[in-house]
Amino acid sequence: MRDSLNALYTQPPPVPCQGCGQCCVSPTCTVVEFVVACEYLLENFSKENTEKILLAQPKIHPNYEGNLFCKFQDKETLRCIIHPARTMACRLFGLPVIDELDLNNIENCRKMNIASLPKVSPEKLKAWLSLLMEMNEPLAPYYQEPYWVAGFNIECWLAVYFDPLLDDEVFGILKKLLREELDLRFLEEKFIDKTELKDKTGKILLLYEIIRSGDTQTALSLIDQIRRSYPLTGAYYFEELQKLQNLITSHQ
Ligand code: SF4
Ligand code: SF4
Repeated sequence: MRDSLNALYTQPPPVPCQGCGQCCVSPTCTVVEFVVACEYLLENFSKENTEKILLAQPKIHPNYEGNLFCKFQDKETLRCIIHPARTMACRLFGLPVIDELDLNNIENCRKMNIASLPKVSPEKLKAWLSLLMEMNEPLAPYYQEPYWVAGFNIECWLAVYFDPLLDDEVFGILKKLLREELDLRFLEEKFIDKTELKDKTGKILLLYEIIRSGDTQTALSLIDQIRRSYPLTGAYYFEELQKLQNLITSHQ
């Protein structure tokens, strides 16, 4: 799995990034990418520094709605401290093909000269993303309704790993697999969940029940509440909430 991911990571062509670091927001990533990023930290930083990095207080990014500052970005140099293990989202940033596809309304880099950027076809990009999803195949149910963990950022993955409240039928299997693959237990006693992911997923499951009951006004109001209430979960479920909202309003 790790070898396949590393092979995939070599596929996107490099872009002439100026390294300003302004686009670095806590990336959405799959479980395999999260594991590989954390393994890189463990291999290259002391336990004390790993603790400081992973357990740093998450901060909302003022320039990118629904996003946090990335805790893998060095605060002084603004450089990526896990660069060889950075996620696929980080590797695709800047490529013009992102603008050609409706990729969750991702705001692309505007600092690089478009003419100088490598061309990647939409088919090629879709093939990469589909390979990435194949690597997460054992967790396929979590990448479907009502979980859609494809939108998880680093904070959400940490919450699944550590938060004892999330050790239940909702994320139980995901948590077990994650903990089998990655040993961050030395941080167990120090982790404090700030995302309220447990509460958010509970509200999402409730939302599906309300939609099934046909109470559209309550459903719309709950969608609004979920969207506003859990900023540290990043953009998790934003796209899905929008789809549910469109579906409800189109049937009103
Ligand atoms: S991709 Fe663009 S915004 Fe991001 S660091 Fe490079 S130049 Fe800056
Ligand atoms: S993982 Fe690295 S490249 Fe990706 S957003 Fe964070 S700091 Fe930037």
